[in-house]
Amino acid sequence: MQVPQLTETMTDFMISSVYPAEAVYARQLEELGDPHAQPPVMEELKAEARRRGLWNLFLPHAEPGHTPLSNVEYAPIAEIAGRSLHLAPEAMNCSAPDTGNMELLSLFASPEQKERWLAPLLDGKIRSSYVMTEPEVASADASNISFTIERDGDELVLNGKKWWISGAGRPECTLLIVLGLSEPEGSRHARHSVVLVPKDTPGITLERELTVMGYHPHDSHMEINFDNVRVPASSLLGRPGQGFAMAQARLGPGRIHHCMRLIGMAERALEIMVHRTSSRVAFGVPLVDQGVIREWIADSRVEIDQARHYTMHAAHLMDTVGNKAAASEISGIKVVVPSMATRVIDRAIQACGAAGLSQDFPLARLWVEARTVRFADGPDEVHRRAVARTEIKRLQSALDGERPTLAHHLRQEQNS
Ligand SMILES: Cc1cc2nc3c(=O)[nH]c(=O)nc-3n(C[C@H](O)[C@H](O)[C@H](O)COP(=O)(O)OP(=O)(O)OC[C@H]3O[C@@H](n4cnc5c(N)ncnc54)[C@H](O)[C@@H]3O)c2cc1C
Repeated sequence: MQVPQLTETMTDFMISSVYPAEAVYARQLEELGDPHAQPPVMEELKAEARRRGLWNLFLPHAEPGHTPLSNVEYAPIAEIAGRSLHLAPEAMNCSAPDTGNMELLSLFASPEQKERWLAPLLDGKIRSSYVMTEPEVASADASNISFTIERDGDELVLNGKKWWISGAGRPECTLLIVLGLSEPEGSRHARHSVVLVPKDTPGITLERELTVMGYHPHDSHMEINFDNVRVPASSLLGRPGQGFAMAQARLGPGRIHHCMRLIGMAERALEIMVHRTSSRVAFGVPLVDQGVIREWIADSRVEIDQARHYTMHAAHLMDTVGNKAAASEISGIKVVVPSMATRVIDRAIQACGAAGLSQDFPLARLWVEARTVRFADGPDEVHRRAVARTEIKRLQSALDGERPTLAHHLRQEQNS
């Protein structure tokens, strides 16, 4: 399918299937009485997404039966899906953390590992979690990870505690992709490995679920204890000590996908803001004609478009020079987009009055989701640090170079 046609199909899927399913999903979830159980409407949405060819579109590497899209091509699709964050991405098998996990498996798994884990993930039969963050260490710096992976004969033995493990509480999640310290004597970035662990392995305890600003998200963020968990040595993904590099490879696409979806969330919030304020009158004037509301609308439009252009620029770089060379721009959008979405959704909540906080609107939920992405896949401060590092390096190397540059001129001015 050509990209414009795909976008049209996607929009039609949202209007005819996804938006109407939102209320059904909420009702079924309530009836099930378990925040992590799967409402049956999700399987219907998955079948419909497949039927329309909207399946696994995130994956840039060719897997059997899969036509890859570039990041630039995928961006508008992910944006539209983000408008119904809790339904559309999962219905299309394009939701976090599975997308990053599938990408990791697609790049590094052995044929046996692919058959056991990647095939059912691509088929939407199981889900997976990415298990890195630890309560005891500042995990914003992944080189701190101290959970242990030790070799014992032809087995690996895993010990330690992890938390904020998204999706692990859901019954469909059967695979834990675990990052731990395996080569303590190695250099800072060559000490960790990744192991594929079935969730039902003895020694694994899901100790508690963390709430997010008081919410129990459907995806569940779990604290998990590993007590002498034994898996065959063949469960190692890639080579020993390659874990840090693999984690970085996984995070680039994961981060830009978050940003693409957040842009869709902000667009939906802006739409709600305009609709609601157009239909209510206060002090004799439609709310939408109040100067302050117009300013919110204008600022939101401008900020969304800025964020989208920046995201498309990062996507273009990923497509043309590769994820590694685009790392600084990926960090840049990771700083800009979640904050933009949080601001836009917050304005929409304010413009809707108290209703904006209630379950009658998706805004409160969208706001919490956007706010969490300022931590998930790395906090803002760490991404700013990465952007600054690239910028300083770029300008310093311009100064060190032979060719006269504006930087030389500025230095001369400073010294004179
Ligand atoms: C909703 C949600 C889902 C998540 N899902 C997962 C998951 O599925 N799997 C997983 O492994 N983890 C997950 N996480 C965890 C997330 O990746 C971590 O919270 C994040 O990496 C930060 O680590 P930390 O919480 O240990 O913060 P810390 O490392 O303790 O950092 C605390 C604060 O210190 C500041 N800081 C840190 N470094 C610097 C610096 N260099 N310069 C300036 N300030 C700095 C930042 O403000 C940061 O927020 C999730 C988190 C959230 C909120």
